[in-house]
Parts: sequence; structure tokens; C-alpha cells
Amino acid sequence: MIKSHDSPFHHLFDTFEVIGSGKFATVRRCVERQTGNEFAAKFIRKRSSTGRMGQALEDINREIDLLREIDNNYIIKLHDVFDCGNEMIIVLELVKGGELFELISEKGCLAEEEAVHYMKQILMAIKHLHDRNIVHLDLKPENILLSDKTAKRIKLIDFGISRKIVNDLDVKGLYGTPEFVAPEIINYESVNTGTDMWAIGCMAYILLSGASPFLGDTKQQTFVNITAADYHFDDQYFANISNAAKDFISGLLVKNSKYFTNYSI
Ligand code: ADP
Ligand code: MG
Repeated sequence: MIKSHDSPFHHLFDTFEVIGSGKFATVRRCVERQTGNEFAAKFIRKRSSTGRMGQALEDINREIDLLREIDNNYIIKLHDVFDCGNEMIIVLELVKGGELFELISEKGCLAEEEAVHYMKQILMAIKHLHDRNIVHLDLKPENILLSDKTAKRIKLIDFGISRKIVNDLDVKGLYGTPEFVAPEIINYESVNTGTDMWAIGCMAYILLSGASPFLGDTKQQTFVNITAADYHFDDQYFANISNAAKDFISGLLVKNSKYFTNYSI
């Protein structure tokens, strides 16, 4: 059972180097004093009632509640939560293999077989979420970590903007990272599981080519490309990619693809 402690995190954990950061969060490696076990501590600055910096408490609590509900081998596990006044500390399982983003940056792109291996695991993680009506809404290679580089095992992280869909109409808004957002987000229409599947299509494209399907010179141009679903399988990158892989991507980069029931690859 996971508890929220009021007792200071620092009595129980030693904190070490920064291993990642985002808009309002810094992630550090930490070691639990009692057990010697390593974890990742995500320190999130809370927004004060007057300020504009930091994350709203409601959003932090939502991230924690979702992490508590999720239990899957391909998704990061929550260990503990500490409320420390001006910041919240989320203690997570530590993943040591770096981001999938870094792997693509190093390699340029992945061989199709390797990309399939990663995509299968990502789909398994997403199925677990969608079965529970949870949409991740920030799927991108920075939010996929490699837990074991040799076995090429992944862990999905970052539920900072994830939502539980209670009914279709209640979640709208411009979230996520421009390159990966689906047309319905740009059009301020309700999000659904298809919103994640669009991002999965973008990721599959990127893993196979190293190129981003909708990326324009400006954010505006990227959004124009997305709303027109305007992308191509350039020969430069896709000449040697199988039709099955291209069909997989084309099946995901579909506007208003509301209901996906088949997660196989
Ligand atoms: P944000 O919501 O600010 O993007 P994330 O949860 O994505 O925060 O964490 C930011 C970065 O910190 C990640 O991209 C990753 O590099 C690193 N990170 C986050 N969680 C872990 C973890 N459990 N183990 C190792 N690194 C992590
Ligand atoms: Mg992130």
C-alpha cells in the first residue's frame, strides 16, 4: 500500500544527481536509506495561489492518482509520494537505460525489426491504459525509457497531462508536444484513445526514419500539416521499409479515428 507521508523525504532518502527535467519537474536519483534501493524522485514545484510558476496541485494529484491505478510491466511504478509544502515528490521505480529519444538520436533510426520490438511493448502499455479509459496524451520518445538496454525493455513514463475519459466531451485543450499532437487537439475537439494512437503513428514513423512526419519550420506550419494529415513516406527514408510497416502507420495517422480496438502490430 502506498502512503503519502508528511515526514520529510530527506530523512528517508539520500538524493543524488539530476537524471532528467521538464517544465516544472526535476528528476533525481535517490537511495532509500533503510533498504539501499535506488529510485527516481520527481520533484514537482507546486503553483502558489498568487504565482504563475509551478504546476497546479489538482494536476499533480491527478498524475499521482493515475500512477496509483496503473500496474503494468511496461509502465513506470509508483513507490511513494511526499507532500513537502511548496513541492510534491513522487518516488518512482528508477529506469537506467535512458530515453528512447536518445537511442534514436544516437542511431539516426532503428532497423524495422528493432522498431517492431519497441512498438509492441509501447502498444502493450497503451492497451493497459486504454482498457482503463486512461489516455496518456504525451506519448513521445522522451517519455519512453529503456529499462534494460540488452533486452530492449521499455517503461512508459510521464502522466503529467494524462486523463481518465469519463465521457467523450469533458477533455479538451491544447496539450502535449506540437509534433505529436493529433488534429482533434489543435481543433479543440474532445480527445479519445485515438489521440494516443495518432502519437503512436508519429513515433513509429520516427523510429523507422529518424524524421518527424509533420514537423514544419514553425509550430504553425506543424499544426497546418497535422490538421491536413499531410505526411509522406519519403523514399529517402522509406525505400527499404515494408508495406506492412507503412500500412501500420497509415492506419494510425487518420483524422477522427475515434475507436481503436486492435492494438496488434
Ligand atoms: P515532465 O512531466 O516534466 O516531462 P517526466 O516525468 O517526463 O517529467 O520526467 C522528465 C525526464 O526525467 C524524463 O524524460 C526522463 O529522462 C527522466 N525520468 C523521469 N522518470 C524517470 C524514472 N523513473 N527513471 C529514470 N529517469 C526518469
Ligand atoms: Mg516528460
